[in-house]
Amino acid sequence: NQSLHDFDPEVAAEVDAELRRQQSTLEMIASENFAPVAVLQAQGSVLTNKYAEGYPGRRYYGGCEHVDVIEQLAVDRVKALFGAEAANVQPHSGAQANAAAMFALLKPGDTILGLDLAHGGHLTHGMKINFSGKLYRVAAYHVDADTGLVDMAEVERLAKEHRPKLVIAGWSAYPRQLDFAEFRRIADEVGAYLMVDMAHFAGLVAAGLHPSPVPHAHVVTTTTHKTLGGPRGGVILSTAEMAKKINSAVFPGQQGGPLEHVIAGKAVAFKAAMTEEFRERQARTLEGAAVLAERLGGEDLAAAGVKVLSGGTDVHLVLVDLRDSALDGQQAEDRLHDIGITVNRNAVPNDPRPPMVTSGLRIGTPALATRGFDTDAFREVADVIAAALLPVFDADALRARVTALAERYPLYPTLAP
Ligand code: PLP
Repeated sequence: NQSLHDFDPEVAAEVDAELRRQQSTLEMIASENFAPVAVLQAQGSVLTNKYAEGYPGRRYYGGCEHVDVIEQLAVDRVKALFGAEAANVQPHSGAQANAAAMFALLKPGDTILGLDLAHGGHLTHGMKINFSGKLYRVAAYHVDADTGLVDMAEVERLAKEHRPKLVIAGWSAYPRQLDFAEFRRIADEVGAYLMVDMAHFAGLVAAGLHPSPVPHAHVVTTTTHKTLGGPRGGVILSTAEMAKKINSAVFPGQQGGPLEHVIAGKAVAFKAAMTEEFRERQARTLEGAAVLAERLGGEDLAAAGVKVLSGGTDVHLVLVDLRDSALDGQQAEDRLHDIGITVNRNAVPNDPRPPMVTSGLRIGTPALATRGFDTDAFREVADVIAAALLPVFDADALRARVTALAERYPLYPTLAP
């Protein structure tokens, strides 16, 4: 019963160092966030010890009376949050949620139609060496080279040509909203299911600041750790009619024992997502992204070949286009890392540079909004990023401005060290 610090100082030291890293730098990876302390506590609890194969009230193990209550709370809350008829909160991650949803809807060899990875789709939407690309035949749609928007005419053309069993709408790197009703119309036209993967924008949907896919899709998958701001994990929402199929695809189809400590964290996160404070935070997330897109679309940057894909954003992220810049994605990511801002390089559509280098950056605002950033703070960080992407810049001065922002908006003040 020794503490982590006493029993394993090597691991403890790195956990402490990671906390300090999160506190002292500015996190702008679009898929990351800071879970509330209440979520960390639920996740770090004795629930990790419990086996609970099955579902609340129908378990294959004894002693499930408390995890049953917790899992049912998570299910009821997420259904209420998104207005869904049914929910499965057991997927260990977003990828597992997608694998289970596809396992429920498809047979190996069926055709899926998703957004190309290189145009902002996710690995699980049909990438060649992912399960989705190995088990299913894949057709991929793209964004229009001029507008940067998903080409719905191409979606319809490909759907008619390939007759997919499943159409997937959703993205990992796309700065605009999708037209879910139009996706459903196309899916219906060819007799396909529509699955929306709202992993990135689920928090915005929960806050009512982004159209909901729930009324349009047969199945909606999500992660719980991005804009939603909960523990790492996945969820599948569906119609009541689909629920049985989905449940048996998750367990025993894809998974064994659910992670009840994570499910407890999800329950807490869903409670948080119902509050006015959460809604206000999602509004700041959007405002921050808009401020960033405006600044990074400025003339000084355009002169250096730096642009914003699609000319702006409607969501929590901005995609910076470096195709015409001497700076590549790797160099830009490294430069920002060096001054204390964490982002990820990202391929842009028709990227001339190799995937490990890329010609883009994906910059998101959810984590800083959670820290409390307001419009002025987002303006300051946008200015710092803009300065760092110009050919000549003063790294020391920019680092000092990042540190000042990190100190002005403390993260996890009650946690040691
Ligand atoms: N779906 C989308 C759209 C994503 O962006 C991601 C993660 O980046 C996932 C699914 C997978 O989530 P996880 O990393 O939890 O497996």
